[in-house]
Amino acid sequence: MQSISSSQAKIKGRFAPSPSGRMHLGNIYTALLSWLSVKARKGTWLLRIEDLDTQRSRPEYAKLIEDDLLWLGLEWDEGGLDNIGTAAPYSQSLRTEIYEHYINKLAPLTYPCFCRRADILATQAPHQSDGRIIYAGTCRPAQFPAAPTTRPHSVRILVPNEDITFTDAVYGVQQINLATQCGDFIIRRADGAFAYQLAVVVDDALMGVTEVMRGSDLLLSAAQQIFLYRALGFTPPRFAHLPLLYSDTTGRRLSKRDQSLSMEHLRQHFQPEEIIGQIAYIAGIRPDNTPLSAKQLLQDFSLDAIPKTESIPVPEYL
Ligand code: GLU
Repeated sequence: MQSISSSQAKIKGRFAPSPSGRMHLGNIYTALLSWLSVKARKGTWLLRIEDLDTQRSRPEYAKLIEDDLLWLGLEWDEGGLDNIGTAAPYSQSLRTEIYEHYINKLAPLTYPCFCRRADILATQAPHQSDGRIIYAGTCRPAQFPAAPTTRPHSVRILVPNEDITFTDAVYGVQQINLATQCGDFIIRRADGAFAYQLAVVVDDALMGVTEVMRGSDLLLSAAQQIFLYRALGFTPPRFAHLPLLYSDTTGRRLSKRDQSLSMEHLRQHFQPEEIIGQIAYIAGIRPDNTPLSAKQLLQDFSLDAIPKTESIPVPEYL
């Protein structure tokens, strides 16, 4: 029997931060686990800068993200601001022509939408706490293809009223009906900016990503993305969602507002190994918070240790 060639078997994971602020403990927890998951299997780790939202993204934050990752010992093999690799560029703001090409392929399923509210948010990943609403289909035409218009509009895609089933590497089998759980969603904003959902699928597919790891609040997005993968004729990656970290003090999901858990503060008070050891303990992959390097965690890393709860509290002393 012929063995699978090493390029076919190659595992590629990615970290895809939005440079809208300094990273916090929650971001580096995702980065560390994603790095460990691919490196433990000798895979490639890619860094993509998700700066679709030009209002909120700043190049200086992208630089700090790179600096913080390197300080922690989380080196990427591909991507980043230096655009290492054949799928360059690795900053979404430089990829609009590519998105343009793929959005045209979806034209038979899309329609112009004149509703304003959700449009603004579409370039950002829809984290649970954002409290998004299910789109009621207000602008959906009676017939497809939709009639062209010259009025300013966002572009929505018609979703099927059927379950999308996939197996998440942490949470197991998921069954999500997009029609009832999210509705037709935006793939391009009225100002022309491409939406997170479209860009992330095109990028992960073209960059050869085989594993997408991120917070569990993007589980619904995985179903939206699988739908887009299929519509574009791409093979979906393996999805692995992680329980969200939440602050024990405020009871809320960590955000860029939690100053004490921002990398700026953490770097002033801890060594990289102390932070890594702490995350490993919080994530359930170590029995205590002994300081150690990311490389030291590689040996017996397994996703099985991650708790299947929705969230994990961060101890107050951190
Ligand atoms: N840029 C997104 C975020 O920072 C990434 C979401 C994803 O990993 O797909 O929330």
